[in-house]
Amino acid sequence: MKNIITLIIICFFTSTIFGQITDPVATEVWEPVPRVVSSPSDKFVPSDAIVLFDGKDLSAWKSARKDTLALWTTDGEAMTVKPKTGDIESKQSFGSIQLHIEWRTPAQVESEGQGRGNSGVFFQKRYEVQVLDNYNNKTYPNGQAGSIYKQYIPLVNACRAPGEWQSYDIIFMAPEFNADGIRVRPGYLTVFHNGVLIQNHVEVQGTTEYIGLPKNIAHGDAPIMLQDHGNLVSYRNIWVREL
Ligand code: MG
Repeated sequence: MKNIITLIIICFFTSTIFGQITDPVATEVWEPVPRVVSSPSDKFVPSDAIVLFDGKDLSAWKSARKDTLALWTTDGEAMTVKPKTGDIESKQSFGSIQLHIEWRTPAQVESEGQGRGNSGVFFQKRYEVQVLDNYNNKTYPNGQAGSIYKQYIPLVNACRAPGEWQSYDIIFMAPEFNADGIRVRPGYLTVFHNGVLIQNHVEVQGTTEYIGLPKNIAHGDAPIMLQDHGNLVSYRNIWVREL
């Protein structure tokens, strides 16, 4: 009898019966408390986001070729590639981030394959999530819209018609390199295209090369780069949250 009473007392204080947790409170975790982040419904920009473009100007961007101004055009809402002025990059460098970006390929369809509404969002200037008009436009699938260029085919084709605004919501986990320049953790990408999951935590193989295999040369934080592929692709509402 004494042993049973002892067991009951032990169970009472440890909330367990023969090793099984019986008290719901025992598995509640109260720290740390997530900080409050608001996401107003009118603009959908979270309160802790860094806004890289809100339509006003390109002050958060510069030419990726040289230390000069970004020369793409703006109209108060969007920025548009100005062909032959080159890629542009954020002045700020980033590691792992959540990125929201909206893009639109030209309503007037010209060319085909990789020549139709081509641009791209490069993380750390090296890892491209392809932007392309793939609404009834065939190309190699590992180079279509939403592909991790020449590495991962998107799970589905969520493209809207040319001339319509589309969105990417992307989680980029930056690769890590040790002091010897060896990659000790690969990068990862998760991509939602117009709210549809198209890349599910894929392991970035290295740089997204047009020709040849991915490379893994050590680097640190680096800018987001948008590609001038000669097509009049527009972007708007660009914000990031550092992770
Ligand atoms: Mg591209």
